[in-house]
Amino acid sequence: TFVLGPKITTWDRDRKVWLQRNPKFPQYVNGRPRIMLVTGSPPNPCDNAIGDHYLLKALKNKIDYCRIHGIEIVYNMAHLDKEMAGYWAKLPLIRRLMLSHPEVEWIWWMDSDALFTDMVFEIPVLKYKNHNMVIHGYPDLLFEQKSWIALNTGSFLFRNCQWSLDLLDAWAPMGPKGPVREEAGKILTANLKGRPAFEADDQSALIYLLISQKDKWTNKVFAENSYYLHGFWEGLVDRYEEMIEKYHPGLGDDRWPFVTHFVGCKPCGSYGDYPVKRCLKSMERAFNFADNQVLNLYGFRHRGLVSPNIKRIRNETVTPLVNVDQFAIRHSVHQGR
Ligand code: UDP
Ligand code: MN
Repeated sequence: TFVLGPKITTWDRDRKVWLQRNPKFPQYVNGRPRIMLVTGSPPNPCDNAIGDHYLLKALKNKIDYCRIHGIEIVYNMAHLDKEMAGYWAKLPLIRRLMLSHPEVEWIWWMDSDALFTDMVFEIPVLKYKNHNMVIHGYPDLLFEQKSWIALNTGSFLFRNCQWSLDLLDAWAPMGPKGPVREEAGKILTANLKGRPAFEADDQSALIYLLISQKDKWTNKVFAENSYYLHGFWEGLVDRYEEMIEKYHPGLGDDRWPFVTHFVGCKPCGSYGDYPVKRCLKSMERAFNFADNQVLNLYGFRHRGLVSPNIKRIRNETVTPLVNVDQFAIRHSVHQGR
């Protein structure tokens, strides 16, 4: 069967030795584990130019979040493994980055069609000190319902360790394009509740793996649902005005979603599950909702949630540092952590 690369068995020990030999590349910085956010898009242009425009906006959004929170970011457009094209491309990429950046403690995958919509919220990493994978999901949907949407692989974190390499190895075999992926899709549809008939996808394969080898993996998988590590866009994008009225960034949950993920939209491709117009308008709203939180430091905001134009919200001042102290997000979030 398909393998991601030579079987590595001594990663925890090897990485530890490397870290001891390379004190200039510590796995913890200021008491916080080093995080690398990984995202990407296909090597070729989108079917429509507007798709590339929204890929750029989604990338700007991630760069903003990562700059504010001291997270490194990787954007990949190459297919590291031809067999693992499409949504499976993240597996060989995550493995490669783990092995090539031993100083990184957590690799955080985020889909291109997911946007940060709470620029203040931070992942409570210390909560996961006994886990190796953090993914948005619901244990009851997973183990009782065996639902194909019990977990969402649009945004998840992997600890850089042997366990994660082993999970990637166990997860990958349904990925190779062609007959393998086609046949595996039938097994997944037969076993997972609500799954339409189509080739094997990474999300269904992970869910199936965790259900069928429950004892082997689940004690190290944290199914997070106390905030939106992934938030399904449909129930969120029309409520932004209400959120602005009632709440404030930093909550990360239903009141102010951390991530808004455009599942089923596919603005870069041709066939999504929703009308393109509705998707693009919703993405524009999510982008501007988030961008307003960034622009706040500079004294601007968008004229409306669908407007690329901005307006001034504060007068220029001869004492700009007062505003830095008051409005810079990085100053507020690191306190008390
Ligand atoms: N992706 C990639 N290269 C590809 C295809 C997909 O990097 O050739 C990434 C991209 O970030 C995308 C994610 O994989 O968001 C999931 O793929 P999917 O086809 O599910 O796309 P989505 O529906 O998320 O746009
Ligand atoms: Mn997606």
